[in-house]
Amino acid sequence: MMQPQQGVSLKAYNTLGIDVKAAFFTQICHLDQLQAAQKFCLAQGCPWLLIGGGSNLVLTEDFAGLVMVMAMEQIDWPTTAANEAFVVTAQAGCEWDALVAASIERGASGLENLSLIPGQVGAAPIQNIGAYGVEVKQYLRQVQVFNFASGELFEMTAQACELGYRDSIFKYHKHWIVTQVTLQLRRDHQPQLQYGIIAETIIEMTGKPALEATVQQVRDAVISIRQTKLPDPKSIPNVGSFFKNPIVSAAQAAHIRQAWPDLVAYQVDDLSYKLAAGWLIDQLGWKGYSQAGVGVHKLQALVLVATGKHVSGAQVLSLARRIQADVQLQFGVGLEVEPRLFDSRGECYL
Ligand code: FAD
Ligand code: NAP
Repeated sequence: MMQPQQGVSLKAYNTLGIDVKAAFFTQICHLDQLQAAQKFCLAQGCPWLLIGGGSNLVLTEDFAGLVMVMAMEQIDWPTTAANEAFVVTAQAGCEWDALVAASIERGASGLENLSLIPGQVGAAPIQNIGAYGVEVKQYLRQVQVFNFASGELFEMTAQACELGYRDSIFKYHKHWIVTQVTLQLRRDHQPQLQYGIIAETIIEMTGKPALEATVQQVRDAVISIRQTKLPDPKSIPNVGSFFKNPIVSAAQAAHIRQAWPDLVAYQVDDLSYKLAAGWLIDQLGWKGYSQAGVGVHKLQALVLVATGKHVSGAQVLSLARRIQADVQLQFGVGLEVEPRLFDSRGECYL
């Protein structure tokens, strides 16, 4: 029987730095510890919560059950010849950006646009992480899953994960814990330059045409853009984008554009457009807003920040509700929260 710690502060385990306590707490370094944790929760009849890097969740109350922090960190690098696929398997607790950096050092490409995304490898498929026109979906081959309800361990193909825009099957099967992830990367390199700012930054940094950039140069450009614009959670606590970019019908986008001619909208298909949620929020004057230690980042209106010493999850959610209501009122658009929200017994919603 495992012996978890009791009454542990979770402040260091979430990038908003919210200081709530876990009734029980343990780190998961091996699969057998996950099995022991499952037995513990069954015996106690208590809820459980798995935390990775804590960069995409908001804790609103002390947690009344077992909090597990994923710490399984092994990586199996390919030993195959250069003309074969580059397949790497990493355990869930590896740091995502360390995997990106190490894969590039070993000559692989594909993940460079996903550089500097905080958090762990195991969380990457949960919301199908994406940035600058690339999603992990493009490189995911399979995942290993531990079913915390039944204790069973099984493999899933990438297709079975039903990866969509910041979405996957794991958001609906909440008792499935990803224990390892297998990615199939490229050995050739074609810079992925759909987002104009990447090419502009590469040209600025290298003085050469963007199409000639090496994988490392693309990574350097992504890191440079992100460091300029996005707050580092270590100095300004945040969980990245607080809302998803809303997808609206072409008719609704056209309607909004009549009143807001500068609307930032990207065509998804013939019928729909993706609106830049940050732009919508910015238009309503929220950028840089701050009250009682909670606010909106001064350079990116999509990022809520917790700069006060004792910020609560409730304060963050209260601001999120006000922004949501304002956007709904002014644009007629509903904003969906991106990070996962947790109360004392499990996931909750705004
Ligand atoms: P956590 O916050 O620990 O967990 C998030 C959710 O996933 C929780 O519900 C948790 O229970 C669950 N979970 C975690 N690990 C597992 C697992 N192994 N198995 C099952 N469930 C699990 N996201 C993007 O997509 N693109 C970006 O560009 C991006 N930029 C960001 C920039 C900043 C500054 C910050 C703070 C966040 C950003 N994010 C971005 C959001 C976040 O980094 C990602 O969602 C990341 O994948 C979360 O990883 P994590 O390990 O911190 O997950
Ligand atoms: P940005 O460059 O200011 O762009 C604003 C929004 O417009 C982005 O959200 C992006 O949508 C969309 N966009 C921009 N150029 C586009 C193009 N050529 N085609 C289609 N859509 C385009 O965004 P940012 O805040 O600095 O973020 C840069 C990238 O990092 C984005 O991809 C963003 O998703 C990602 N990011 C994510 C988080 C997170 O927590 N989820 C946090 C920080 C950054 P998409 O978001 O759909 O790409």
